[in-house]
Amino acid sequence: MATISLEQEINPWEAQAARFDFAARKLNLDEGLWRVLRYPSREIIVHFPVAMDDGRIEMFTGFRVLHSQARGPGKGGIRYAPDVSLDEVRALASWMTWKCAVVNIPFGGAKGGVICDPRKMSQGELERMTRRYTAEIIEFIGPEKDVPAPDMNTNEQTMAWIMDTYSMHMRQTVTSVVTGKPLNIGGSRGRREATGRGISVACDEALKHLHIQRDGCRVIIQGFGNVGSNAARLMQDKGYKIIGIAEYDGGLYNPNGIDVCALSDYRQRNGSVLGFKGAEAYDSNDLITAECDILVPAATENVITSRNAEQIRARIVCEGANGPTTAVADEILADKRIFVIPDILANAGGVTASYFEWVQDRQGYFWKEADVNQRLESILTESFDDVVRYSEAHDVNNRIAAYMLAIDRVAFTIKQRGIYA
Ligand code: GLU
Repeated sequence: MATISLEQEINPWEAQAARFDFAARKLNLDEGLWRVLRYPSREIIVHFPVAMDDGRIEMFTGFRVLHSQARGPGKGGIRYAPDVSLDEVRALASWMTWKCAVVNIPFGGAKGGVICDPRKMSQGELERMTRRYTAEIIEFIGPEKDVPAPDMNTNEQTMAWIMDTYSMHMRQTVTSVVTGKPLNIGGSRGRREATGRGISVACDEALKHLHIQRDGCRVIIQGFGNVGSNAARLMQDKGYKIIGIAEYDGGLYNPNGIDVCALSDYRQRNGSVLGFKGAEAYDSNDLITAECDILVPAATENVITSRNAEQIRARIVCEGANGPTTAVADEILADKRIFVIPDILANAGGVTASYFEWVQDRQGYFWKEADVNQRLESILTESFDDVVRYSEAHDVNNRIAAYMLAIDRVAFTIKQRGIYA
């Protein structure tokens, strides 16, 4: 693994495949099942036009990849970004299969993406692009087929447009076709904060496991979007000290702790965390390698690579993002005895609450927020235990343990269902 180029190292598909191959070998996975699970089962690429505000017609490219539906309908977010690629969406779709299996919810894995620059688009353009993308993939999504959700640069409003477009085509309102919707149209209480809440629960469990005290535990969070900001707030409420926030346009550092609520207000008003008075400005890359107890990469892929893994000075890395650590960096972190809570466990709170949303939509009965949070916490605590026990029993790190656990569950289901002929 150590001799590959940086380009290969940071390809998310390669990163996923390297861990999958390693875990499958450890499991002695049947060769045929290996081939079934190594690649996605369906990949859709669509090219479609959107009328822009200035009258121009722009062409966009979108993807929806279904990795597996062995354990249930496909499940996974849709991301909007200029650098979305098929390889990235493929990797993210596989990660969704493993994630849903780690937390043992009845979904397969899928992911979507549209190549676009949402920062440069108006609300109207985003709405038209979302509706047309939905129409292009409409026969492949559905409550029992494949259920999209928010991801990078998509949100509750995006989900409302998808739900509405799908419903117009079906001639009836179908709320359970997407999750992460606004509350009044079938969203779930607690869904917005769920990924951040899951991260805080995973960190609590890691501290208990390592016998480290929670009060005053120093945390650096990279990314202050939905995941990072909610994780920061919930962790601060629990007694963690958030000493660093790294954003794409710059970072903040305060060894005495940053007031996360004040920072959220500041960012709301100014559009950036830069210039916030309650902390000193700090280079974001330097924050990744600054000394702390817990580092939470909560933005994009490839934040911890062979380039900086050696310099990481955290005791615990809790992966809020999908794929923030490369496979090469995994080995470096393991050598340094850093306790990694892998993405497919650490950020699974989001899809777990999505599962609750899907259940509530189908029941037509909506739960209290306390019930959502309590069920989320119990699933994540149990999954954390499963992964740590698996890692001890098989003498592998947490990431490989999580993959093994997930692959084992999915492979078992495929064997039980049999291969359709
Ligand atoms: N995009 C989130 C993830 O990567 C949530 C997916 C979902 O809720 O379906 O886990």
